[in-house]
Amino acid sequence: NSELDVLIIGAGPIGIACALECKKQKLNYAVLEKGALTNSLFHYPLNMTFFSTSEKLEIDAIPFISNNPKPTRNEALEYYRRVATSNALEIYLYEKVEAIKQTELGFNVQSTKSLYTAKKVIIATGFYDLPNLLNVPGEDLPKVVHYYKEAHPFTLQDVAVVGASNSSVDAALEIYRKGGHVTMVIRGEAIGERVKYWVKPDIVNRIEEGSIKAYFNSEIKEITPSHLVIQTPEGDKTIANDYVVALTGYHPDFTFLKTVGIELSKDGKSIPKYHPETMETNVKGLYLAGVICGGKETHKWFIENSRIHAKIIVEHLKKQI
Ligand code: FAD
Repeated sequence: NSELDVLIIGAGPIGIACALECKKQKLNYAVLEKGALTNSLFHYPLNMTFFSTSEKLEIDAIPFISNNPKPTRNEALEYYRRVATSNALEIYLYEKVEAIKQTELGFNVQSTKSLYTAKKVIIATGFYDLPNLLNVPGEDLPKVVHYYKEAHPFTLQDVAVVGASNSSVDAALEIYRKGGHVTMVIRGEAIGERVKYWVKPDIVNRIEEGSIKAYFNSEIKEITPSHLVIQTPEGDKTIANDYVVALTGYHPDFTFLKTVGIELSKDGKSIPKYHPETMETNVKGLYLAGVICGGKETHKWFIENSRIHAKIIVEHLKKQI
């Protein structure tokens, strides 16, 4: 492979934004993506609606036209697909980056298919590949899932939904409306603060009327093929259970970041070290873009506020190429 100016890892919305910016600046770049284009969005629930309005999800001011104020997963897939194809961006799919090594001239990047050399590297790998586990006995049973796609398999089943954020609330409501018997297991004392304001009354009312059962201040202690043991303020409860939909969040690949030499904060948040004005990490020539920047605080960055990373990074790195 000829030497690249910039190698971008991850073709999520922010990796695509970085590619567009590199193209505009006439840099020799490539994006490597381990899955499908916008792989995280592709794995979102089929009926998911974004909390952002469509213009806030736009990159490089390319209009995102959606039928409703808040676009759906399908509309977002359509949008980013068109941005990538119409601009003929250099994106290579189903090619995972496994190692990055700093050299005198830049970096050697080893993927599952090839070895690349690049002067600069941008990591835009997000956080959606690694779920936060419950770490309880029985979590490895096939009835436990950490990604939710659609409600149909759960009709007429006893389903425990773990968590109280947007993903859990959307899943609980949808499964309940498709005839599943839903029990929410919630560690805190209430439904999450960041739950979409137009969805919150729906879940609160369903819990109050008893259509959806909720255990607050509670955690799953054990999962068996037919039951769940839940630790509640009133003592342990054993309930019948067919499926556990555990939507307790996700986290960036910290091992990968550490292996490439990026320092992580030691305050329990594991925030990677980067300069906020350039997005360059403590490894010179290696940049971070998108939601990966938040470490364990995965709610801090989203498309809306991280799409600007592309311009900041390319502005900085092009001066050194
Ligand atoms: P991602 O989209 O996660 O892209 C990272 C890409 O890197 C993935 O395609 C992944 O496959 C790839 N990758 C990972 N490791 C490697 C590797 N080693 N080699 C090659 N490729 C790799 N944000 C908003 O602004 N508005 C919303 O309404 C909104 N709703 C959300 C709803 C849900 C359910 C979730 C989970 C998030 C939501 N977000 C929202 C947050 C955020 O916008 C998304 O997480 C968004 O996808 C982040 O973009 P990104 O490009 O930084 O990362």
